Formats: sequence, structure tokens, C-alpha cells
Amino acid sequence: MRDLRTLPKAHLHLHLEAGMRHATLADLAAQKGLVVPEIGAYGSFAAFSGTYDLATKVLETRADWARLADEVLADAAAEGCAYIEPAFWAERYRDRFGSDRETWTMVLDLFEEAADRHGVGIGWIAAIDRVHDDEAASLAIADLAIELMPRGVVAIGLHNDEVGHPPTDFVAAFARARAAGLRSAPHAGELDEGRHVLDAVEQLGADRIAHGVRSFEVEGLVERLAAWGTCLDVCPTSNLLLGIVPDLASHPLPALLDAGVRCTLNADDPLLFDATILGEYELARDVFGFDDERLAAIARTSIEASTLGDDAMAAALAGISAWLAA
Ligand SMILES: [Zn+2]
Repeated sequence: MRDLRTLPKAHLHLHLEAGMRHATLADLAAQKGLVVPEIGAYGSFAAFSGTYDLATKVLETRADWARLADEVLADAAAEGCAYIEPAFWAERYRDRFGSDRETWTMVLDLFEEAADRHGVGIGWIAAIDRVHDDEAASLAIADLAIELMPRGVVAIGLHNDEVGHPPTDFVAAFARARAAGLRSAPHAGELDEGRHVLDAVEQLGADRIAHGVRSFEVEGLVERLAAWGTCLDVCPTSNLLLGIVPDLASHPLPALLDAGVRCTLNADDPLLFDATILGEYELARDVFGFDDERLAAIARTSIEASTLGDDAMAAALAGISAWLAA
């Protein structure tokens, strides 16, 4: 059996702070006198979200961020990632690092160094928080993301609870970001109806959808996603632990792939779901019964959907072919 660790892949659906290791959360929390709640016992998205907030509280200093950067990139390299595309929302750090621009600059500097050190490509999703950000705030995020494109911001995202916050509320910010050349990668079709996936494509110009696993709820949508080439960045363990699917046997990933939809495998929030991207590939093999051809095809989709430069992308794709040929 081929080792999935050596299959070149891209991690496209990763919430930055949740890339933190458990040991690091415990260590940083102890230093700061904070109590870490039990990880993984979420009765609701709100409970999950509260735990995420705690992970952000421990990141108080530049040194904390430098540690996170090094460990996220070290783990990515160890799991066979040629590229990662973390999503980041800077507003929560205004009390510590000043303006969103200053926070972003610190994070970009540290992660760029770490990415070089570990030989992993990196691009960034500038997240809009659909619960907290009104139109003015979401336009400000788009503007800052555009300004930071030369530093590696490649996409605009839409995060947090979908319920009551449909894609249609964010048309202006996505239009501005896309006009400047940013990709569109909103969350949709996870916590609320599949209709949001269609709205995300039609109104936000989504190139990729984070999750999109409820697309079967809308008649004909899955066929349209396949025809459009829209990529779904799917996270099976996350869907299971947040109750989006009752069990993995009911997960729609195999059916989405059978229908010709481009899909990638991702961990979403490694810290909070005790998930890794490598673990999701292993799950797909063990639980969904995917053969190596299908696993390699998913990895290929992820690399093709990345923003790796021509040479790095060609090298990663050649690595996938070599993995299959071995
Ligand atoms: Zn997500």
C-alpha cells in the first residue's frame, strides 16, 4: 500500500489558528493562566466557536505567532503538503497588534519565513466574518486583501455561521476583491441549506466552496458544479463532529466525485477536530474505500486549485504521477 504521507497535496481549507498543535495550546495557555476546555466535545457550532476563540487568546505575542508559524509549516511538510492556503481574520487581534494591516504584516512575515524554511508554498485567504462584519467592514477587508496581494493574499473567504448570514449579503466585497484578481472561496452549504452554494457561485463568483456538502439539496446543482468546474474543499471529520452528517457512511463526498465534481480533502480545524490533512486522506481510503487512483486525483485537484507557481506546480504534479507509478 502506498504511503499517503508522500503523496504531494495542497491544504486549501485550514483556519489558521486551528492549525495549532494541542501541546502548544496547552503550553501557551499554561503560560498565560488560561484553562483549556475539553477538545472535541461540541454540542453545537457555538460551542465549537467558543473553543476556537480560546485558541486565538493564547496568541498574545510575536513569539507565540512565530512558534505557530514554524509548527504549522513543519506539520504541513511532514504530511506531504506542497502548499497550504490558510484563512485568516485579523480583527480579533486589534487589542494586541494594532491595526489589521499591522497584524497581517506580522503574520505574513513570520509565515513566509517558515514556509521557506520548510519548503512549502503558501497563499492566503482573507476571511470576512459573516456574523461580525457589516458591509463597510467586509469592503475594508477586501481592500486590505487587495493591498496585500503582493505579499501572498490570493483569495477572499466568508466564514462563521451561515444561518441568517447568506452569501447575498456580501456581494459588494466579493465583487471588489474579484475585480482586483483575488479568487473567491466562501464557505457555503455546510451549516445552512444547499441553496447557499448556488448563491455563492452565482453572486460571489465562487471558484472554490469551503464544504458545499449540502449541494445535493438543490436539484440539478451537483451537475452544474461539475460542469462549472467549481472546486469543493471538503472536510469529512469536521462534518461528522459538527453533526452535518450523522455518520461517515452518509457523507456525500463519494457521490460528489462520482458526479464529476472537483473535490479536495482538508482538515478545516486540526486542533479542534483532532484532524490532519493526512488523516483525511487515510480516512478516505479506509472509510470511503477510495483507491490510490482516486486519492491521487483528489491530490491533483488540490494542487491545480492552488496558486503555486508554474515550476512548483509542475513539480508537485510530477510527484503525484511518480507516487502512483511507484
Ligand atoms: Zn471551514
